[in-house]
Amino acid sequence: MSSNNPNLQLATKTKILNGGPLPTVIAGPCSAESEEQMLQTARELKKDHRVSVFRAGIWKPRTRPGMFEGIGTVGLEWLNTVKQETGLLTTCEVANTSHVEESLKYGVDILWIGARTTVNPFSVQEIADALRGVDIPVMVKNPVNPDIQLWVGALERLNQAGITDLGLIHRGFSTPNNKPYRNHPKWETIKQIKELLPGVPLLCDPSHVAGRRDLLQTVSQQALRLGVDGLMIETHNNPDVAWSDASQQVTPAGLDTLLTSLDLDTEHVASPEQLQELRNLIDKLDTDLINVLFLRSDVSKRIGEYKKANKLDIFQADRWNQMVENRMRVANETGLDEGFVKAIFDAIHQHSMGVQNEIMATIAKSKAESLS
Ligand code: PEP
Ligand code: MN
Repeated sequence: MSSNNPNLQLATKTKILNGGPLPTVIAGPCSAESEEQMLQTARELKKDHRVSVFRAGIWKPRTRPGMFEGIGTVGLEWLNTVKQETGLLTTCEVANTSHVEESLKYGVDILWIGARTTVNPFSVQEIADALRGVDIPVMVKNPVNPDIQLWVGALERLNQAGITDLGLIHRGFSTPNNKPYRNHPKWETIKQIKELLPGVPLLCDPSHVAGRRDLLQTVSQQALRLGVDGLMIETHNNPDVAWSDASQQVTPAGLDTLLTSLDLDTEHVASPEQLQELRNLIDKLDTDLINVLFLRSDVSKRIGEYKKANKLDIFQADRWNQMVENRMRVANETGLDEGFVKAIFDAIHQHSMGVQNEIMATIAKSKAESLS
């Protein structure tokens, strides 16, 4: 396998991919909860020949303490039973040296690094060091924040430690407005990462992008159209009572329906004229938007001049609160999502304060010069 990245030495064949024309499917629960839950789920999944790898989170990175933080080592015993009984390959998330050591001890076939770990080069380096001299495939989820270089850097660290069987998992990003997703897919990233690391298999995790069952199909289909090599989909024998990520997990039967509904003929790209017309309309509206933003920015400058002349602070909390209240009311009236409008106005306001700061600094400078 070759790579555009001169620093990356990749294996010629990968355990992460089925190697066939169909996408690789990794399925299994968000979290290991009990031996029964793991085995019931895995036995059902085994019947579906499209699933080749069984996943389960053993240690869960939770935002706040006190939530279910994973079952721990006993879950690795269950994962191993799944492997022995079904012959499925197994995979779990690792976030530190001890996770790596435990997973290797229990014969986990593939490891993955989670989105909250990819953001931290110290943690990724710790994992890479723990894997030195070990021959195991490792998949890396994109970092939570949309920084593609962190993602590439994580692969480089693992590769420098001798790991050549690498994979990427796109699971969406945290952005100011993720709606309707749990994590914004930022679909353009798929093209970018494929260009940066062309030899590395890329999977999509529609479960963490969508955050809800009803969006899984569209997210999976879009990812396949953009050329991903596989899907990782959280699957639980009884999703509604899952101890983590209940709303995004599907049953093995639900997974079967979902996979069957996917159009795998990703070569076929429809481009009807009607779509072109709509795109022309969007292009025109975007140009109008930019022109309006320019006019608004010009008014901000004049406000900056007024504030300077009258010794007023740039940021006026009362005015900002009133503005937000008013814009939210208008947004509501149009039916636009409040979070979306708020995120746009946060950006506009920040820019406006920048413009005012700049104009005040320019006035102050020219005053100082005229005095000197
Ligand atoms: C998971 O796969 O269960 C998980 C925690 O994912 P992420 O790291 O993408 O949040
Ligand atoms: Mn999960």
